[in-house]
Amino acid sequence: QLSSAAANTEGGGDNKTTDEDDSEDKAAQSLLNKLIRSNLVNNTNQVEVLQKDPNSPLYSVKSFEELRLKPQLLQGVYGMGFNRPSKIQETALPMMLAEPPQNLIAQSQSGTGKTAAFVLAMLSHVDPNNKFPQCLCVSPTYELALQTGKVIEQMGKYYPEVKLVYAIRGNKLQRGLKLEEQIVIGTPGTMLDWCSKLRFIDPKKIKVFVLDEADVMIATQGHQDQSIRIQRMLPKNCQMLLFSATFEESVWNFAQRIVPDPNIIKLKREEETLDTIKQYYVLCNNKEEKFQALCNLYGAITIAQAMIFCHTRKTAGWLAGELSREGHQVALLSGEMQVEQRAAVIERFRDGKEKVLVTTNVCARGIDVEQVSVVINFDMPVDKDGNPDNETYLHRIGRTGRFGKRGLAINMVDSKMSMNILNRIQEHFSECDDVVFVIDKSIIF
Ligand code: ADP
Repeated sequence: QLSSAAANTEGGGDNKTTDEDDSEDKAAQSLLNKLIRSNLVNNTNQVEVLQKDPNSPLYSVKSFEELRLKPQLLQGVYGMGFNRPSKIQETALPMMLAEPPQNLIAQSQSGTGKTAAFVLAMLSHVDPNNKFPQCLCVSPTYELALQTGKVIEQMGKYYPEVKLVYAIRGNKLQRGLKLEEQIVIGTPGTMLDWCSKLRFIDPKKIKVFVLDEADVMIATQGHQDQSIRIQRMLPKNCQMLLFSATFEESVWNFAQRIVPDPNIIKLKREEETLDTIKQYYVLCNNKEEKFQALCNLYGAITIAQAMIFCHTRKTAGWLAGELSREGHQVALLSGEMQVEQRAAVIERFRDGKEKVLVTTNVCARGIDVEQVSVVINFDMPVDKDGNPDNETYLHRIGRTGRFGKRGLAINMVDSKMSMNILNRIQEHFSECDDVVFVIDKSIIF
């Protein structure tokens, strides 16, 4: 009963993933999520806290007033439209603002309020009367540093005495200059040069050191060592803060080298489930038949918004072209686009200006578009060794329990190999006790 077509071998594009691609990819994902995000991500999980001193009382706040912020900063916070601290901020803020300062390692998925939290901590700790750098914040890329800089500017809007400068490549300062800005934000390499070789910054006067996006940071060659070298120049009593969206072993090892005696806060990602999703597969013989099947389905899927996933850029480009030729209006999100272009495409899609988004696995990984209720795997998700990528399947198709909306997933199968992948994915999820995982054969094609 299986289709006997030869394995579909698709050429070229983004099959290869080197470490460098991987780190660029992570940084791009993180930036995209920041650019398209307009508010907090919902998370119903409990915050886990591990205190350095388990006997000291654990404070958490339900309002910004309780933090006794400077009035200018409270005004800045409310000016940004924040009413109350986010889940992670409830615990992280009192720890970061405590006297004496406490070190912190915090992990939670992107969009949960980490940046806003450490920006508030930096702004609270600087003394605007002192005209020298007091806070350093390192980010993995120039673009991410700029994004954080924007948050500092917004939150510090009513506190204009505090100044900010970017330690990024291309920002060339005169030799011998001593910076007067209280906050320096930048990438590890330039920051290290400014602290050591060029001496624009006196590291001994730094009170707060923030390392943002630790998981992205360690994916880039050299960033880890540079960060550690900066950290070593700072005084013993400098407050060290490290943030990460994920917490693999490698991130954890790095975190411990950057932050001595830390308090640790973790907020688990909201579980995704497949319970409310109807899953189907369609048997075809080749790419052209898959396209035909897709056209047959088209009327049904565009009732809602759909995302179509392809394995390579080449296929995604081809498919978007063919669909357009058929007169369908589709958007294409592809890896060769600039990050800003990609953000613009996602934003249009999120706003419902386009109903269908064609993209590749790599490009759309980790991007949350909540309102999508139809997902089409034009190619089944596989990892770089050709094995089923269960996690990607779940992330694409799954819904967080909280939103729990109904959805539809259609898998396009065009060879024994892709049928095998589908079966293995099904087996994988059937082994999880509490998931009902059934993929029905579609009657449509
Ligand atoms: P992260 O650094 O974890 O990715 P951000 O600090 O960038 O998260 O916050 C995600 C989004 O939520 C941003 O748009 C930010 O302005 C907003 N935000 C942060 N804290 C709050 C809050 N307490 N109330 C409302 N919105 C918030």
